[in-house]
Amino acid sequence: MRMTLENCRAGLRRDGFLVMNLADTKSYPTLTKDFVALAKDTGFTLVETLQLALSKGPGTDKLSATHKFEPVFVVRKSPTRTLHVQTDKVKNGMEHEQIGSAATIEQTATTATLNESKPAAAGQTLVTIDPVPESIGLPGCKYIYAPAGKAGEYAPLAANPYRGCGHGCSYCYVPLMLKMKRPEFDAGAKARPDFLKHLAKDARKYQAAGITEQVFFSFTTDVYSTFDTSLTRPSLEVVQRNGMGICVLTKGGTRALTDIDLYRPDRDCFASTLTSLDDSFQQKWERNAASPDDRIAALKAFHEKGIFTWVSLEPTLDVESSLAIVEATHGFVDLFKIGRANYLGEYTRTTDWRDYTLRMIDLCQRLGVKHYIKRDLQQYLPAGYSNPMRVAQHH
Ligand code: SF4
Repeated sequence: MRMTLENCRAGLRRDGFLVMNLADTKSYPTLTKDFVALAKDTGFTLVETLQLALSKGPGTDKLSATHKFEPVFVVRKSPTRTLHVQTDKVKNGMEHEQIGSAATIEQTATTATLNESKPAAAGQTLVTIDPVPESIGLPGCKYIYAPAGKAGEYAPLAANPYRGCGHGCSYCYVPLMLKMKRPEFDAGAKARPDFLKHLAKDARKYQAAGITEQVFFSFTTDVYSTFDTSLTRPSLEVVQRNGMGICVLTKGGTRALTDIDLYRPDRDCFASTLTSLDDSFQQKWERNAASPDDRIAALKAFHEKGIFTWVSLEPTLDVESSLAIVEATHGFVDLFKIGRANYLGEYTRTTDWRDYTLRMIDLCQRLGVKHYIKRDLQQYLPAGYSNPMRVAQHH
């Protein structure tokens, strides 16, 4: 439900409405109550609760005892998200602080509304999280698109040349998102029909609009999997030819070196996801991806060529491993993007994400490395912490 709300929020315009019909069930008797609370947590304001009359059978034209009623919640996107978080600084129940510089009159009003409906208890404060910047995606472009939700934190634009992947990461949410059966997704990356033709068409539109940002490859596949990679190089070239930059995030390690000659220090970047420095741990979670050493070798090679490099520490499958990765790689990594693990049951629930966030920012500050703490962890940041989402990813 949280992911649905996050995605809807990212896709809505400012002040846009989301209308949701749901009902409590025997197995989930607090669903509607939880929805309202989650909607507030994810940056919506409840505007109205309507009633939907469900007919028990066809042909019924009057409301009667045979009808069942379900609530329909109308919520409006707030300009920023406001969360209750623990803090040592709060002296009384009404104090709040904001992170970031996006304070506006509307945001103040939102905060006041929330304060009224649910005053912060002593020991709590309200922290406002900066909104995702306005989308630069062009209407009608589906092959170079503006990613929504959590993906939108990584890049303003993205492209996916293949369907399926084959790296077999057990935490991968993509099959679910694409409504693909897991075995089909894991059977490997397959070229999307006429992809280059469509990509070029979109790229020309972006060029005509004067948009020169990097295009991210890829969210729903890996362009350096062990399967078909025939579209990777021509796709990168199409994007570059039309005046845009390239940004590749891969677990393919040194397989990416085949295209290293394309990367331009002043325009492009290369990135890798790292979850551990330990081979057996990586094998357990990402069974067909390159080993940690191989990914590190690729990062070093790009760094030595003068290319901006970054590492995705998402998911964090083991707190100590992620901290160790920063220690081990900061000499050749320009930026770390730090997230948590969601939907991993007991591990997600029992990990102390606040402690992890604070340790991570201490480490990054001590080492003097650039970092971005993703939204899932921003509620644990100290008030006023500088955490820009978009930084230049080139030299
Ligand atoms: S590399 Fe990415 S797309 Fe491929 S299986 Fe792993 S998480 Fe999914």
